[in-house]
Amino acid sequence: MSRAWNFSAGPAVLPEPVLRQAQDELLEWQGVGASVMEISHRSRPFIALAEEAEARLRSLMSIPPEYKVLFLQGGATLQFALLAMNLATRGQSADYVLSGHWSEKAAREASPYVRIRTAADASVSGYHQLPSFEQWQVGSDAAYVHYTPNETIQGLEYPDIPDLGELPLVADMSSCILSQPLEVRRFGLIYAGAQKNIGPSGLTVLIVREDLLERSRGHDMAMILRYSEHAAHASMLNTPNTWAWYLAGLTFAWLDRQGGVEVMGQRNRHKADLLYDAIDGSSDFYRNDVDVNSRSRMNVPFFLHDPKLNMRFLEQAEQRGLIGLKGHRALGGMRASLYNAMSVQGVEVLVEFMREFQQTNG
Ligand SMILES: *Cc1c(COP(=O)(O)O)cnc(C)c1O
Repeated sequence: MSRAWNFSAGPAVLPEPVLRQAQDELLEWQGVGASVMEISHRSRPFIALAEEAEARLRSLMSIPPEYKVLFLQGGATLQFALLAMNLATRGQSADYVLSGHWSEKAAREASPYVRIRTAADASVSGYHQLPSFEQWQVGSDAAYVHYTPNETIQGLEYPDIPDLGELPLVADMSSCILSQPLEVRRFGLIYAGAQKNIGPSGLTVLIVREDLLERSRGHDMAMILRYSEHAAHASMLNTPNTWAWYLAGLTFAWLDRQGGVEVMGQRNRHKADLLYDAIDGSSDFYRNDVDVNSRSRMNVPFFLHDPKLNMRFLEQAEQRGLIGLKGHRALGGMRASLYNAMSVQGVEVLVEFMREFQQTNG
């Protein structure tokens, strides 16, 4: 068995050099006589690892000094609730842009802690088009405005960042973080589950502007739920996911060697263009219904003109070493996720297979 071209939406493919280095170091890490999983998170070598991972992420994303970077657990889903608990006071409202599965869940999970207002809703377009920034209805009294720049399931992505003046913009970047250059200063808070573009699941990266940490002062909350406490204790209030933190650090180093987010942005644009061109040029044998300006570079759902061919498509794809292509159960069809660790070559193999499959089944 060799490694396949893996288009899984998450947990997703990791860079092979990262896995190889982890394999090399699995039994014994950096002269400590044990693996990185088997030593104290408060030991000097682990603290150095943690600091280096953060420094690399800061440099990759050009994170300004007035932002804290936290390495947390509980997935993006825990942050759906925590960000409301930390950023809003009781009775306050927050404005949510509902653009698909994840932003809707984010609003639902926050609703016990903040009054949710809908700023815009993509369901009216059948999730084929994102509401433009001009259509967002945002109140100046909102504690924050939440949106999901890339909707992993419906395959919708905002190509740029809204300007909301003083209102803190909060973004769930689980499926698009590090995929292109980003102006962090435009955001109050960014969070991302690691298992798409960073590392294994079980780690969540949070980037938060320092002044927002003050907001939870006076809230009746356990320490472990407070961003300010995590920040004050370098994300080591309790035992972190040391293994995931280590792998994230290796991925950041790999990204650096690739040329950083600038190069990733170009490569990701090229990969997405290859696949969308193949879909659009197939005379409707394959279809993606998302408006061109709302199409995701990271997650490309597509449908065969005849759903009866779905099983055959997936089986033959797997025989060709292409896995993870089955669409989300809510949508059916196919989905190819094109995160950083998916190479241009992998997408070329997929596109070639799609052409051949059309020739024999069209
Ligand atoms: C995968 C995903 C999530 C869920 O992340 P968990 O780590 O499983 O909680 C949330 N938001 C987006 C945009 C995602 O892609």
